Amino acid sequence: MSEGTPIDGPTREMLARLLRQRGELGAPPIFLEGLGRAEALGLMGPAVRAESPAAPAAAPGPPAFPRPAPGARKPAPSPATPRGASVQAPGPIAPLPVLPSDHEELKALVAGCVRCGLAQGRTQVVFNDGVANARLMVVGEAPGQNEDELGLPFVGASGKLLDLLLATVDLSRRESVYICNVIKCRPPGNRNPLPDEIESCRPYLERQIEIVSPEVILGVGTFAAQWLTRSQDPLGKLRGQVYSYQGVPLVVTYHPAALLRNAGWTPATWDDFQLVRQLLDRRLNR
Ligand code: URA
Repeated sequence: MSEGTPIDGPTREMLARLLRQRGELGAPPIFLEGLGRAEALGLMGPAVRAESPAAPAAAPGPPAFPRPAPGARKPAPSPATPRGASVQAPGPIAPLPVLPSDHEELKALVAGCVRCGLAQGRTQVVFNDGVANARLMVVGEAPGQNEDELGLPFVGASGKLLDLLLATVDLSRRESVYICNVIKCRPPGNRNPLPDEIESCRPYLERQIEIVSPEVILGVGTFAAQWLTRSQDPLGKLRGQVYSYQGVPLVVTYHPAALLRNAGWTPATWDDFQLVRQLLDRRLNR
């Protein structure tokens, strides 16, 4: 590309993707002929620019974990991520170092995770939403397209329904709920997570639960229900009861996306949310 050659739209987008990928893999910025430092860094996107944006101001109210800025792309890899590491091919899952006990450190580490093939196709890792002192932890399945783009769990249609269901029992992600998923990266085409993907992410969710230490856990959908109960039984059999996850009361129910497809499951889901409410109220009255 010679000095002064105008870059057309598609070429600019390809360049932007290449530069973003390099930034995401931790490679040093490259400055193409005819492209100045400022322009190249501009194409890389805010998250991988050397001059990273300031953290969003903390909202008033209960302590919240920092949310990514609207439209934020994938964060730069944390120092714990091997620079230039390639995405792991199917096979034995690489052992992890001892995971941090601090939420933001754990989140930063997971942001650079390449333990399974999903790292290749994701826009960004989707780690959590909600508050630090959550009474309830909701565990879903995996990010979809909206979540992958925004970096937050349950932001699409099923997320809106989840928020409504939570509101019916006086709970919200802004005040009392922490939300995350069994796996942190979007499976291509929103297919079901594969066993090796679930296993790769297992230590992250285990540590998230330890850190958040909620009063009650709610698993939504089959994958979360089976992960949390360590059972292979179908959801219809698992729901409607109280389990214990490492001493924390646990309820599992239908995924909001399933309710959008089959409204017939709504009464049972309603009952499960009431059960969650009762468990929380019982803890308050002890
Ligand atoms: N479905 C999930 O299970 N999790 C999300 O974050 C979004 C949709």
